[in-house]
Amino acid sequence: MNPESTPLAPAPEGYRINPLSGAAVSAARGLAGPLSAEITAALSASPRGEVSVRSADLNLPLLEKNDILAERNRGYFLGRGLVALNLVSSPGAGKTTLLEHTLDDFGRQTKCAVLVGDLETDNDGRRLHRPHAPVAQITTGTVCHLDAGMIARAAESINLDGVKVLFIENVGNLVCPASFDLGEQVRVVLLSTTEGEDKPLKYPPIFKSAHVVLLTKIDVADALGFDRALAVENIRRIAPQARLIQLSARSGEGLPEWYDFLRSLAPRS
Ligand code: MG
Ligand code: ZN
Repeated sequence: MNPESTPLAPAPEGYRINPLSGAAVSAARGLAGPLSAEITAALSASPRGEVSVRSADLNLPLLEKNDILAERNRGYFLGRGLVALNLVSSPGAGKTTLLEHTLDDFGRQTKCAVLVGDLETDNDGRRLHRPHAPVAQITTGTVCHLDAGMIARAAESINLDGVKVLFIENVGNLVCPASFDLGEQVRVVLLSTTEGEDKPLKYPPIFKSAHVVLLTKIDVADALGFDRALAVENIRRIAPQARLIQLSARSGEGLPEWYDFLRSLAPRS
């Protein structure tokens, strides 16, 4: 499939999916299909789109529609034997550059796919387009985050056969992606040395939700006067649960550790 492939028709919600490589030949079953009648009825009965699950002696937490779709995505990914990673950062922290290198290096041994979100343009999807890696671009229009419904449609648009690692490059934003579970198993938050060392203090929810924090562009830290020790201290304070990897996609420093981490998630096929 070439990068000029025809985008799918716009989704009802207004976002658009463009499978740039590895487009699905026939639609996958069950991922973006209608929800069950019970869940649909419960959702429409609730003004805020919540589903209240009750039993005799117990009120379970309300589940938002996104959470239901995210759980379906997670089950679908697990059932296919692939691990999904949700990459979140401010714009310009180096998500796409890191994924380019990851597809060229790690992606040669372990089949990867990418779903990449931006408000407009297929630029990142085109940068990531590789014959050996299915890639779909999600253009969200005005929405500043990806949600689980977008991921379901985009995942159905590409052929996931043999894929072991699915990267989701979220829209550049450190705020609302924290609230949208996409059904990923691993959330990766990037902080680059071109940003402030205090970003984790300013945007704690996303850092607190991270399984992994990547400190990126470490090759230019000294030139920029970036205090790496302070940034690491801030990350450790806000996100003690997260594994921290420091790397530079440009110099290659730290990439082996990132690939080792990915390998630990996805056995080589
Ligand atoms: Mg990008
Ligand atoms: Zn948003």
